[in-house]
Amino acid sequence: MGNTDIIAAIATPLGRGGVGIVRVSGKGIHKIIQGILGSFPKNRYAGLYNFNDDKGQIIDQGIAIFYPSPFSYTGEDILELQGHGGPAVMDMLLSRCISLGARLAEPGEFTLRAFLNNKLDLAQAESVSDIIDASTSEAVRCAMSSLQGEFSATINALTKKITNLRMLIEATLDFPEEETGFLKHDYVYSQLRSIKLNLEDIIVAARQGSLLREGVHVVLVGQPNVGKSSLMNKLVKEEVAIVTPTPGTTRDTIRETIQIEGIPIHLIDTAGLRETNDEIEQIGIARAWAAIKKGGVVLLLTDSRLGITKEDQQILKRLPAETPLIYINNKADLLTPPPQAPDNKEKTEIYLSAKTGAGIEQLRQKLLEVIGWKSGHSSGEGVFMARNRHLKALAETKGHLQEAFNITKQEIRAELLAEEMRLAQKALSSITGEFSADDLLGEIFSKFCIGK
Ligand code: GDP
Repeated sequence: MGNTDIIAAIATPLGRGGVGIVRVSGKGIHKIIQGILGSFPKNRYAGLYNFNDDKGQIIDQGIAIFYPSPFSYTGEDILELQGHGGPAVMDMLLSRCISLGARLAEPGEFTLRAFLNNKLDLAQAESVSDIIDASTSEAVRCAMSSLQGEFSATINALTKKITNLRMLIEATLDFPEEETGFLKHDYVYSQLRSIKLNLEDIIVAARQGSLLREGVHVVLVGQPNVGKSSLMNKLVKEEVAIVTPTPGTTRDTIRETIQIEGIPIHLIDTAGLRETNDEIEQIGIARAWAAIKKGGVVLLLTDSRLGITKEDQQILKRLPAETPLIYINNKADLLTPPPQAPDNKEKTEIYLSAKTGAGIEQLRQKLLEVIGWKSGHSSGEGVFMARNRHLKALAETKGHLQEAFNITKQEIRAELLAEEMRLAQKALSSITGEFSADDLLGEIFSKFCIGK
């Protein structure tokens, strides 16, 4: 991607709407402005203009705003044309910009330029697409606080602490004869401890944010007729699966997303994960297993009156050991006498009636519990909208700090310690993009929408 040529894109969604916006950014957009508007707008003033084609005919009439560099989203000169939001008129305006020297922007290229021009750091740039992609209000709030720089500030503060300690250690390398004077063992140890505790707090907040961003897959498993579709319906509160008393009607998986405390819960209703020759059913079952392997939660439904069957045992055996699992004794309304609350500490188990709805709230709470969501973050505050990339970088930082710790446990070897601290700092600051390879940037920004 070039970094100063003129880019243009329709910034509003495809389709018809009240207003459509074409954005142009780059060096030398004056000729585009002159060509379309015929005159030059005052900086950052919204003015009503005719948008002209190359023959001076009016394409559209609307608002034009000129943002001079560096006071713009990208840091470059930007022209924003707000016209009527129809696909044909937007295409005509965009074509006009292209014929005057702009090229089509790549996805996320405006934000990439904002990053390259130091308007945003990498974590903030990522939060721009997180705000657009957010599916719950909590996720929006959380991404917004990242855009405001809260996540970056926390990362930067910790990076600074690591840098300070690193400088001290490196000074020892420069003046080895003064080693004992510089590197007091207790001091290094206590600094490392405080850095590590700090990092652990960040990891907790980041994991929470990752739940808000990614959500979690929840797979409903159980024998035909135990009430999986009924439970799914109850959770979704609308009829998405066909409920019938004939076993085996949920042939394919049925997926639906609900939210609990702002966390997207992707429900997958299966035909029961059983062996089958039915092709459609097989596809559904394969998808369900894939979701389980990726860390999904399993709800094993049984009919309370029958308990766990041999077939259920087979499924349980095949589940990865770390799979979060909730045993659901359904049709509890048919039990006489009514069931006592289970007190088995070994497994998470509840009684429920998909028919009456009794126990549904308890199920919601248990779900949050098994995925590690700490209630109280429900407004999206105090959590960081972390991506996998961030979680990996945090884990890497932690690994290097742990190594540094191991080194301090013996006699301190300053050069080894300095190296671990350097690596910890590098991993941590990759979050805000201080060290970022071009392919990483390409990967991040290609997932943006065009015009952002
Ligand atoms: P699936 O095959 O596991 O998806 O089961 P369904 O959801 O299709 O339910 C099978 C039958 O059990 C239907 O007639 C449901 O109305 C009934 N059913 C499901 N849950 C309950 C429950 O909690 N209580 C009672 N009494 N009936 C239920």
